[in-house]
Amino acid sequence: MDKNHIQVFDTTLRDGEQSPGASLGINDKLTIAHQLARLNVDAIEAGFPVSSKVQFDAVKLISEEVHGPAIVGLARCVEADIDAAGQALKSAERPRIHTFVATSKIHMEKKFRKKEDDILNMAVAGVKRAKQYVDDVEFSPEDSARTGKDFLFRIIEAAIDAGASVINIPDTVGYATPDQFGALIKDIFNNVPNMDKAILSVHCHNDLGLAVANTLSAVYQGAQQVEVTINGVGERAGNASLEEIVMALKTRNDFYNKTTQINTHEIMRTSRLVSSLMGMPIQPNKAIVGANAFAHESGIHQDAVIKDASTYEIMTPMDIGLESNKIVLGRHSGRHGLKQRLAELGYELPTEELNQVYERFLEVADKKKEVFDEDIIALVADEHISAEEIYQLDYFHILSGNRAIPTATVGLKKNGETIQEAAVGDGPVDAVYKAIDKIVNLPTRLTEYSLRGVTGGKDAMGEVVVRLVKDDKKYVGQGASTDVIEASIRAYLKAINRLISIEDHENSQP
Ligand SMILES: [Zn+2]
Repeated sequence: MDKNHIQVFDTTLRDGEQSPGASLGINDKLTIAHQLARLNVDAIEAGFPVSSKVQFDAVKLISEEVHGPAIVGLARCVEADIDAAGQALKSAERPRIHTFVATSKIHMEKKFRKKEDDILNMAVAGVKRAKQYVDDVEFSPEDSARTGKDFLFRIIEAAIDAGASVINIPDTVGYATPDQFGALIKDIFNNVPNMDKAILSVHCHNDLGLAVANTLSAVYQGAQQVEVTINGVGERAGNASLEEIVMALKTRNDFYNKTTQINTHEIMRTSRLVSSLMGMPIQPNKAIVGANAFAHESGIHQDAVIKDASTYEIMTPMDIGLESNKIVLGRHSGRHGLKQRLAELGYELPTEELNQVYERFLEVADKKKEVFDEDIIALVADEHISAEEIYQLDYFHILSGNRAIPTATVGLKKNGETIQEAAVGDGPVDAVYKAIDKIVNLPTRLTEYSLRGVTGGKDAMGEVVVRLVKDDKKYVGQGASTDVIEASIRAYLKAINRLISIEDHENSQP
């Protein structure tokens, strides 16, 4: 392999899914995995198969359907975990088992109450068992950044001797700093005699806002694989962000002299897809993919950028797949115009879905005359992401006003039948949600509701994101419409439908 090639290992579907408030259904995961393949990542960590039926089946389905990248399943150094990962990955073109055990003093003593040699034996046994299923085995000493160095070198050497092809160094708690983490990577290369027989990977968390800096510092010292997520999603403050690392290596190739195989033109699309499926908006000032990342506000800057973009732009919006010349669609654009624009934005929809999006597009075009790319993307997200549509909105009617008691009547379709309920509430959204609750009758709690305008202007479409909790699990839903009450209902129903289909799947027989 090219010694300047940096492998991009995406863990959006595994570590990213551990973000507070993101439960993805199987179809959502498959959609993201297909997009990651278009982005051309080297590896997709698809889940933790032993942890639940949904996780197992998602890894299995992605192994069957997604071609190109290596598909990775996570497993502790425990037989049942490794066996589950091996089973789930059976159909993958390039399967990889990623097995891990905690090696820091604090984790060994507090979590396991085990001694160093016992941990080392677990690691060796885990790698050997994984080798019975796949050739490609990755081993992580969890919490490496806080592990005693002598023991770390010893366990890495033993894992490579046992057959590990990738050694991943995680900064599990986001404690490292760039100079220190880089020095650790250098020490590993200098002290592990067989390190040249495996790839050295890093996995950094962002608790101190240093995940990207630590990762780049490791790359500078010779690390050959980076573990990252789209938009930097992940547990707590998240993981190192794929788009930032990829664009840093591309833009500063003069310094790093490293390349990735990422198709950067797919970055924006992937970012939006993950954001809308997980219901996690991107901060406007986020590097690379934030709404303002390429917006020049100062007059002096604007003037210079018009004369020559390189004055204030180190990358171009086109590099990441942002079209600079926005095309506006209207009613007259027709089905063909919509289909073509969708293709340019990267969405190839099956005919049935295209028809649904087209119907919604006509409604929106009637109400707001000019339909922007953002509007179309919100509509596709709304239609496309609907899991199984167990409950569908048939009609709603609200009565509201500053002296009226907000009252709502809602009709939902289920299996072709319409069920109607009415309720009063603190406001119109509360009233429609109470009416829906009466129909659906599930013990859920609404923990989050947010509304944003998709584009500027009074006639802008509104996009609503909600989170529901049932049995300590969170389910997200999103909906878009020029009517905010309708967008609110769509989002709520989507979360409910997702909840029901995930629960059904959990309870179904294998
Ligand atoms: Zn992690």
